[in-house]
Amino acid sequence: TGIPTATISRLVTYLRILEGLEAQEVSRTSSSDLAERAGVTAFQVRKDLAYFGRFGTRGMGYTVPILKRELMRVLGLNQTWNVVIVGVGRLGQAIANYPGASDYQFQYVGLFDVSPELVGTQVRGLPVRHVEDLRNFTRTTRVDMGFLAVPPERAQDAAQSLADAGVRGILNFAPTVIQPRTLERSGQQEISDEWRAVIVENVDFLAGMKRLAFYILNPHLNAVPEE
Ligand code: NAD
Repeated sequence: TGIPTATISRLVTYLRILEGLEAQEVSRTSSSDLAERAGVTAFQVRKDLAYFGRFGTRGMGYTVPILKRELMRVLGLNQTWNVVIVGVGRLGQAIANYPGASDYQFQYVGLFDVSPELVGTQVRGLPVRHVEDLRNFTRTTRVDMGFLAVPPERAQDAAQSLADAGVRGILNFAPTVIQPRTLERSGQQEISDEWRAVIVENVDFLAGMKRLAFYILNPHLNAVPEE
């Protein structure tokens, strides 16, 4: 039994709202208040939160700092995440230079590329290493996530480098579907060991633009909330 992806996306939204409320020194909120700010129903808010426990008191709503702390814990944001960037071109450098990630203890610990022009240089104080060194690097430095910002035709290989290095989370910015490697074992195709624990999240801003184009042309179809 899984939890809908949309629920996890909404938890991230609720957390952002709670941070805003805390910044305004608002100490209490309710499912209907959160719902209004998030553009969903109060039922949806309660249902999303109920997957993870009971955070409020019936009829009393939620204490902002407590709910915020609990959502941070649920999302794993109260711990440090070590991130490497694979592909340090336009997008990779933009990500490396974006300061927002460090608000959540996501820290860039390594940058990897194949370009002789880039390997050996520094971006934001971090040396750019050759992607062949990734496996060695993870022997001494814990790496929890890899950002994949390589050209689409290189994404599968670069993802393999991350999987081989034992990195379990891949945030893929290339507009390609990353496939886990499979092996034939006793006549059956099985996912190879290094891929078994790997989770891939795709970030495709062009896909967002395509959806937007459709909804701008068909605004009346934009009313269905996703479940
Ligand atoms: P880019 O060409 O500027 O940079 C890609 C980098 O990847 C280069 O430095 C290249 O040397 C490196 N590279 C190639 N093969 C590699 C490998 N096997 N291992 C490690 N590094 C490798 O490209 P970009 O514009 O930064 O785009 C990167 C990816 O992100 C593309 O898939 C693109 O479609 C996607 N994307 C880009 C943007 C954007 O605004 N630039 C936005 C969304 C998605």
